[in-house]
Amino acid sequence: MKFLNFLLLALLGFPAAAQPSDLIQQLWKTYPQFKEESFTQRRIKHQDLQPLIEKYKQRAGFNIHHVGTSIEGRSLNLISIGTGKTNVFLWSQMHGDESTATMAIFDIFNFISSDKFKAEKVALFKNVTLHFLPMLNPDGAEVFQRRNTLGIDVNRDALRLQSPEGKTLKRIRDSLAADFGFNLHDQSKYYNAEASANPATISFLAPAYNYEKDVNGVRGNAMKLIVGMNHELQKIIPGQVAKYNDDFEPRAFGDNIQKWGTSTILIESGGFPDDPEKQEIRKLNFIAILSALFSISNQDYKTLDINDYKKIPENDSKLFDLKLTGLQYELLGETYILDLGINNLEISNGKNIYYYRSQIADQGDLSTNHGYKARDLTGYKIKPGIIYPDILDNLKDLENLDFFSILSGGYSYVQVKNIPKNENYTNYPIQIVSADFKIPIRLSVGSNPTFFLEKDGKAEYVVINGFFMDLEDIDNSIKNGLILR
Ligand SMILES: [Zn+2]
Repeated sequence: MKFLNFLLLALLGFPAAAQPSDLIQQLWKTYPQFKEESFTQRRIKHQDLQPLIEKYKQRAGFNIHHVGTSIEGRSLNLISIGTGKTNVFLWSQMHGDESTATMAIFDIFNFISSDKFKAEKVALFKNVTLHFLPMLNPDGAEVFQRRNTLGIDVNRDALRLQSPEGKTLKRIRDSLAADFGFNLHDQSKYYNAEASANPATISFLAPAYNYEKDVNGVRGNAMKLIVGMNHELQKIIPGQVAKYNDDFEPRAFGDNIQKWGTSTILIESGGFPDDPEKQEIRKLNFIAILSALFSISNQDYKTLDINDYKKIPENDSKLFDLKLTGLQYELLGETYILDLGINNLEISNGKNIYYYRSQIADQGDLSTNHGYKARDLTGYKIKPGIIYPDILDNLKDLENLDFFSILSGGYSYVQVKNIPKNENYTNYPIQIVSADFKIPIRLSVGSNPTFFLEKDGKAEYVVINGFFMDLEDIDNSIKNGLILR
């Protein structure tokens, strides 16, 4: 039957182009062919982009122009593709530590320059011309920080235009007078889709252009495109799409670009379980952006209902990395019931390396919160860890320790005599302490969670630097221990 269908289609001379929704499914399946393999983690820098941009300069159809320079002298490049009369402008990473969409843009370039999906791409570029400005804030990206070298948030510079990065964005927007704009960011991984435990893996916004949050044709088209992208993403990550707050911010680019007449869509990449480098979310960006571009080209979005935009849940901020529920906690002779919300915060050394320093983000009744990992520990008692009696001379001596037996003995700290000044962590599942270290006597918001969980006098679980592990099933869930002085 399949063959007959195929034969029939061939005889009728149907074009090879896939139907829009099928196309998105096929793109999802074939994504590995287009993934830019030189990006493997999210701390990418300007110098990582340049060889790729040089490569595309040689490719037919890619028009690349140097359009600006950052404060520290890094080039800003506009990469234009296509001949269609509808102009689409996409810019990423105006916040230096928000690189997910930058990675996806280079995946999209690989898709465009490949010999796959030819018929679809011919149709696309007959109708649209795409203009990409990846990594608008390369100085911030260099040290993986939000702000630029002037120390300002480029996304609050749309009116004053002090930063060369913001000036470039404004000038390009004005010169293109693009019909559509994509403002590509990352948001906190602790955002969830309202009234659910799902992370807001992707959040959209059609920014408001006035305090009244009116919807004109320009903003309405942005909303319709979001409805289409949400429709496609729901098939892949059901319940993990939300809507960013639409309060009007008069200094922000998205809000102003909408006001200046470009239908503007904000895409925020949030969190996804077990995806700290955002490689899965990068793939979702690839799909969402391409689905919108094809929709702009074939004008499918025009039939979509703005009310479906309103139905997308709002972002909420109720997620923790780890939520532990129903713990018994002893304080001054009394026992209390506590839930703990724990976040594993990244500490970066400015290069590509980072480690985790975890914190109790909240404690008390956390029944309205959620966790990427959540455990009901009703009946378990919190027991502080103690210091291992043997004192080691230096960090190298840790190699010889049997951490399973140390943790099983109720020891969560190992004292080391000579700790180099600049060392803050080890990759061992234990906390390293100096002679001056005092075990914290209370759990408090902001403190580092390290303790055992026992039932009927027997420790069954341990939390080291905010990472939870079953003592019967020791694995590598403790990403790193800290050095505490
Ligand atoms: Zn941002």
